[in-house]
Amino acid sequence: MILTQYVSTRGKADKCSASQAILTGLANDGGLYVPEIFPKIDNLTHLLSLSYQDLAINILKLFLTDYSSDELKSCVYKAYDEKFDSQIIAPLEKRGEYYFLELFHGPTLAFKDMALSFLPRILKLAAKKHDINKKIVILTATSGDTGKAALEGFAHIEGVEIFVFFPSEGVSSIQKLQMQTQAGENTHVIAVNGNFDDTQTGVKKIFLENHLENVYLSSANSINIGRLLPQIVYYFSAYAQMVHRFGLKEGDRINFTVPTGNFGNILAGYYAREMGLPIKTLLCASNDNRVLYDFFTKGDYDKNREFIVTTSPSMDILVSSNLERLLYHIGGSEITAELMDQLSKKGKYSFLTEKPGFAANCATQDESNEGIRRMYNDNGYILDPHTAVAYVSYRKYRTETNDFTPNIILSTANPFKFPESVCKAISQQNFSKVNFQDAFGALEILKKLSLSPAPSQIMNLKTKKVRHSIVCMPDEMGELLFKILALDALK
Ligand SMILES: *Cc1c(COP(=O)(O)O)cnc(C)c1O
Repeated sequence: MILTQYVSTRGKADKCSASQAILTGLANDGGLYVPEIFPKIDNLTHLLSLSYQDLAINILKLFLTDYSSDELKSCVYKAYDEKFDSQIIAPLEKRGEYYFLELFHGPTLAFKDMALSFLPRILKLAAKKHDINKKIVILTATSGDTGKAALEGFAHIEGVEIFVFFPSEGVSSIQKLQMQTQAGENTHVIAVNGNFDDTQTGVKKIFLENHLENVYLSSANSINIGRLLPQIVYYFSAYAQMVHRFGLKEGDRINFTVPTGNFGNILAGYYAREMGLPIKTLLCASNDNRVLYDFFTKGDYDKNREFIVTTSPSMDILVSSNLERLLYHIGGSEITAELMDQLSKKGKYSFLTEKPGFAANCATQDESNEGIRRMYNDNGYILDPHTAVAYVSYRKYRTETNDFTPNIILSTANPFKFPESVCKAISQQNFSKVNFQDAFGALEILKKLSLSPAPSQIMNLKTKKVRHSIVCMPDEMGELLFKILALDALK
C-alpha cells in the first residue's frame, strides 16, 4: 500500500499523514491540505459493483492510509446507515431528460450530510492516534446547511464541543430553526450580525489568533480535507447507477453539473476524475454571486462586488475557499501562495492558465425561479433553489455549447428546507396569489404540491423548543467563544 501524504497548498507547512491533516484542519502557513499525489483506481468494474458503503471503504482507503481497514470499515458503516432514508444513500433519479443525483437523503436533508456523517468519527480517531487528550472544539461558519449537518454529526460525541456561527439574515427560516432547536449539551449555535463572508472570516481569525491552551481547535468546514474526501464517493456511485440502471457503457465519459458555493462539492468531482473516473466536464453553476463564473470564463477572480442575497444561500459566497486547492493542483504552491496573498490584500487576482475539464454557467434569481416552475410543470418534480441554479445553468450550457454528453445534476438539498422560496417560484403560474403566512404555511402548500412525502425532520420543527438564541457582532465571535468555554469549564 502506498502512503498518501498531505501537503499545504501554500507550500510552507510540513507534509503530514491523513489523520494529522484532518486533525489540523488549516495548515499552519494558512494553506489547505491536499493529497500530494492522486491515488489511481485500478479496477473500475469492481468498484461499480459495490454497495455505497463498500465503495466508500475502497475509495477512502486510498486516501486515509494511516487508518486501519477495521477503523475505516467501522466509520463508514456507522456514517452511512439508517440515518439515510434511502438504501442507495445517494439515489440517481431521472426526470424528463435530466438526471439528478439526490444527495439529500441524510438526517439534515442536505448534501453536507454526505461528509459530515463521516468526519466526526474519523476526527475522533485522529485525536486518539495523536494522543490529543484535550477537549476538541469544532468551529464552523455556515451559510445554512453545514451548520445543521455538523451539529447532527458532532452532537453527543464525547470530548468534543461544537460551535456553529451563522449569518443572522443569511439563512432560510427553516435552516435557522433546524440549528436553533439542536439538542446536545455539547452543541452551541450563535447568530452573527453580518453576511457569510464576515462569519467565515471571523472563524478563520479565531484559528489564527487562538491562544487557548486547554482545548484543541478544529474545523468542520470544507477547508478540512476530511470533508472533501467522502464526497468523492458519490461521483463513483452516480457513475455506477448510470451504468447499471440507465444503460451507460462503462468507460464512456459523462458530465456533472454542480451548484457551487465554496467549491467543495465540485472539487470532489475533480478528485474523482484525477483518480480515473471517466468524467469529461465539470460544470460549475453559480447564482447571482457569480465570482466563479467570472473566474472560469475570464480568468479573473474578484470579490470586490456587491454581495447579493438570493434564495440559494449556500451559494451566496464571494470567497470560495476550496478554489485554492484547484489553483494548487493546476499551478503549484508558489503561484497559489502569491494569488492568495493578492486575494487577501486586494480582494482579487488573475489566473489565466487553462482549467481543463471545467466549464461554468450561471442563473439569475428570476431564471432559477422559472427553472423550479418549469421542472414542476413538466415533470411534477420539485427542485430546491440550489439545484434549480444547476438545472438552469446546465440548460444554458447545453444550448451554448451543443455538448450533449450525458449529464448528472447534483441535487444538493430537499426542497422542503426552503418552502417559502420554492412555493413562491412555483405559484406564479399555479396560484393566483401566494397564500401563506410563514414557513409553516408554505410547508403545508408544498406538502400538497409534492409527490414525495414531507420529511418529518422539517414538519416537527414547529413544536420543537428553541435552545440557542445568542446573537453577536463579527468582531465579538472570539471573545464569546472563550467566555462560553470558560463557563463550561466551571460546570
Ligand atoms: C453547501 C451547499 C452548496 C454548495 O456546495 P459547495 O461545496 O460549498 O460548493 C450547494 N447547495 C447546497 C444545498 C449546499 O448546502
